[in-house]
Amino acid sequence: MAGEERIRVVIVGGGTAGWMTAAALATLAPGAAEVHLIESAEIGIVGVGEATLPHLRAFVTRLGIDEAAFMAATHATFKLGIEFRDFGAIGDAYIHPFGSYGRALDGVGFHHYWLRRHHAGTVPPIGDYSTAVAAAAALRFTRPGADPHDLANAYGYAYQFDATLFGPFLRSHAEARGAKRTEGRVVSVERDGESGDIAAVTLADGTRIAGDLFIDCSGFRALLIGGTLDEAWEDWSHWLPCDRAVAAPCASPEGGIEPYTRATAMAAGWRWRIPLTHRIGNGYVYASEYLSEGAATDALVAAMENPPLAEPRHLRFRAGRRRRSWVGNVVSIGLASGFLEPLESTSIYLVQMAITQLIEHFPAARVCAADRDGFNTLVDAEYDRLRDFLILHYHATMRDDSPFWDHVRTMTIPDSLTAAITLWRQTGQVARYTHGLFLEPSWIAVYLGQNIVPEGWDPRADLPDGASLDRALAALRGGIAGAVAAMPDHAAYLGATA
Ligand SMILES: Cc1cc2nc3c(=O)[nH]c(=O)nc-3n(C[C@H](O)[C@H](O)[C@H](O)COP(=O)(O)OP(=O)(O)OC[C@H]3O[C@@H](n4cnc5c(N)ncnc54)[C@H](O)[C@@H]3O)c2cc1C
Repeated sequence: MAGEERIRVVIVGGGTAGWMTAAALATLAPGAAEVHLIESAEIGIVGVGEATLPHLRAFVTRLGIDEAAFMAATHATFKLGIEFRDFGAIGDAYIHPFGSYGRALDGVGFHHYWLRRHHAGTVPPIGDYSTAVAAAAALRFTRPGADPHDLANAYGYAYQFDATLFGPFLRSHAEARGAKRTEGRVVSVERDGESGDIAAVTLADGTRIAGDLFIDCSGFRALLIGGTLDEAWEDWSHWLPCDRAVAAPCASPEGGIEPYTRATAMAAGWRWRIPLTHRIGNGYVYASEYLSEGAATDALVAAMENPPLAEPRHLRFRAGRRRRSWVGNVVSIGLASGFLEPLESTSIYLVQMAITQLIEHFPAARVCAADRDGFNTLVDAEYDRLRDFLILHYHATMRDDSPFWDHVRTMTIPDSLTAAITLWRQTGQVARYTHGLFLEPSWIAVYLGQNIVPEGWDPRADLPDGASLDRALAALRGGIAGAVAAMPDHAAYLGATA
């Protein structure tokens, strides 16, 4: 290719992954990439994926998207975290917040002081020291203020939205910035005889679309990375055995709108509840080895607050990922590259992370091995860390009420997770993974929420005398309660900012 020419990027797939990629490249790399997306209405999109992580805000901001317009178009609500019910034991509940607990003192993490007083039996749950937890529980929300040192602002937020509307919203953004779109089904793939790279794809109507770089956003079909290049699949279903979901929306009940997603453990998996402005999204993620489709549907419908507004939809998946996400001139993004499972709403985050890495490693004139390796190394690290975090939710349980929970409670876990749990149990330290999502407060939330309480803590937390430590803890708690009391009701805030 001549140096001055733009790279011809062909994106196969117009789900959330395809349109996020198209919108990002058209906005952030217009001089480097000529973007052409192919999607097939006949095949459709997966159509789930309603809960997100705070990182999506950066995506929305970087692309210059108006947050209020985006939220209105997708019936979005704000999300401060996820409430987990019945995971550690039936009857348990905790919120994994998007934010920190308390405040570090003299360089020692807050949770060490909390642990010291917890063992003395003098503190309330650690969630009382999190603004995000307290606001979520009170169904209140406001955007955090600018001063990051103020504990009242020590939280982030994400969105809960209608997954079928996010792609179309991004489509208009991408097309307005020059992305081309072709409707049609890819039926054949042409490879370069020498390099093995993909040269072009052909649609059912005979249209041939050539490119320099192909982005496989074809969802679970993995048309290019799997179907054509046959990149190996790393299967993680022995650790994450859920492989099916049934999903159905229902009308919102009377009362407020929760600024959080709920995950309730069920006999053979767990059930999501995602409140949007116009309805509730529900789904049961389960392991087919332990539950039939019919029984899962019945259990979901019985647990919903209102009757389904549509016929329940059934989805199949496998936990795992492609060994390499970028092979030759094909970069797989979204479900084509892998899927863990939706327990911590990580899939759209992984799409965003891959797009960010793609832009950082974007080929100058042609694909080079260094870019590809850099991209794949980071994607590996992200997946490995997420995998361990997700397994923790299943493994850290006392539940023995069903064969599913017996299996996950007693299964062999990755060595990296065993080491992380041992470190936590003995010292109260959170293992540091090299890269990736879910920092210390997230691990603390799940460990404590699922009854893994360390025997020890940082000895420096023993320095303050008990009475002054208790006064400091009470002041933090009081400050948070006051800040939350001053926040508007979430539903009212949504109405006011729409
Ligand atoms: C049960 C479940 C719950 C989930 N919940 C969450 C969640 O809460 N949060 C989250 O972040 N993620 C969640 N996800 C994941 C999320 O849905 C996906 O990451 C996201 O929607 C991206 O999907 P995608 O674009 O990769 O695939 P898809 O939406 O499946 O899009 C694939 C695209 O490829 C096109 N295509 C396929 N084959 C061809 C062909 N031959 N020719 C032309 N076009 C083709 C299709 O038409 C479609 O446009 C969930 C997933 C599942 C299964």
